[in-house]
Amino acid sequence: MTDISELKSRHKVVIMGSGPAGLTAALYTARANLEPVVFEGLEAGGQLTLTTDVENYPGFPEGVMGPELMNAMREQAVRFGALSVMAEISSVDLSKRPFKVVSGDRELEADTFIIASGASAKMLGLDSEKELLGHGVSTCATCDGFFFKDKELLVVGGGDSAVEEGAFLTKFASKVSIVHRRDQLRASKILQERAFNNEKMDFIWDSEVLEILGDKQGGVRGAKLRNVKTGEVTEKEAEGVFVAIGHNPNTQLFKGHLDMDEVGYLITKDGSTETNVPGVFAAGDVQDNKYRQAVTAAGTGCMAALDAEKFLEELGE
Ligand code: NAP
Repeated sequence: MTDISELKSRHKVVIMGSGPAGLTAALYTARANLEPVVFEGLEAGGQLTLTTDVENYPGFPEGVMGPELMNAMREQAVRFGALSVMAEISSVDLSKRPFKVVSGDRELEADTFIIASGASAKMLGLDSEKELLGHGVSTCATCDGFFFKDKELLVVGGGDSAVEEGAFLTKFASKVSIVHRRDQLRASKILQERAFNNEKMDFIWDSEVLEILGDKQGGVRGAKLRNVKTGEVTEKEAEGVFVAIGHNPNTQLFKGHLDMDEVGYLITKDGSTETNVPGVFAAGDVQDNKYRQAVTAAGTGCMAALDAEKFLEELGE
């Protein structure tokens, strides 16, 4: 790790985010002798650090633990000269080059800027969910599953995350019920099959969560559910609720400055990582609403590095 106070005032490449996209961009730009600075951000290592087994990252026939994979990616980038900083970017000025990147009371100049800030968990938007977050409500099964030994749990959502997290939670919980707002899962077939064959899992279809029941002292004791087809409202007992309904891209800093879609994903030019501002590139989940895989994030991180390198070369810098 590099201390932020040790950084020079101007850098050729500054990278925001340290998931597979950011660290792959760092590896490639480091190997091009561009000495990139990586702002690791609040969730250093990105979403894979919230995961246990990663079975679909090529090169690991037995699977690999998410945090282990991310530490290895960081070490590999640092070995070639990337400067990894444990800090968050608080604001940027992309209106002219060199760009200005601010973190706390430190301001740096950057000739190119690679945004790989990823996406964060979506919430249901209930007051009770906000109140009980960390008191029985969680967005991270791998972080909090351990606390629910032999308890009954609810997982909200119908995608890969909900089904995968639900299956993971059955390692601890006595029962996991997936609450989904439709009667069909969005999750991939292999995960669905595993879930349907898991004796500890069941499904509450066509249902939305109206309220999470409980209090901060006693934790969660259940949820009020509404069947969206019949309108029937029921109370389901549970001692934990895991919300796994997808993610929002981390693009708040760029609103009004960079082109984004209606959800907030950055828009890149066809077949490249270029944004609408020359010299600013986007890689990984922050610009990918479709594939959102570690390996695709790493792939676009590589593309961003090559795009940034070419941009600097053409400027003669
Ligand atoms: P997702 O695919 O967007 O699924 C979100 C789920 O939550 C959907 O079933 C959606 O319902 C539901 N939902 C969304 N907003 C809701 C709300 N306000 N209230 C109730 N339900 C709501 O998100 P994801 O599961 O996090 O997956 C994201 C991406 O990562 C996907 O591309 C996925 O394949 C990938 N992923 C892969 C793996 C793996 O391969 N092992 C693991 C995790 C994630 P509807 O179905 O009705 O829209």
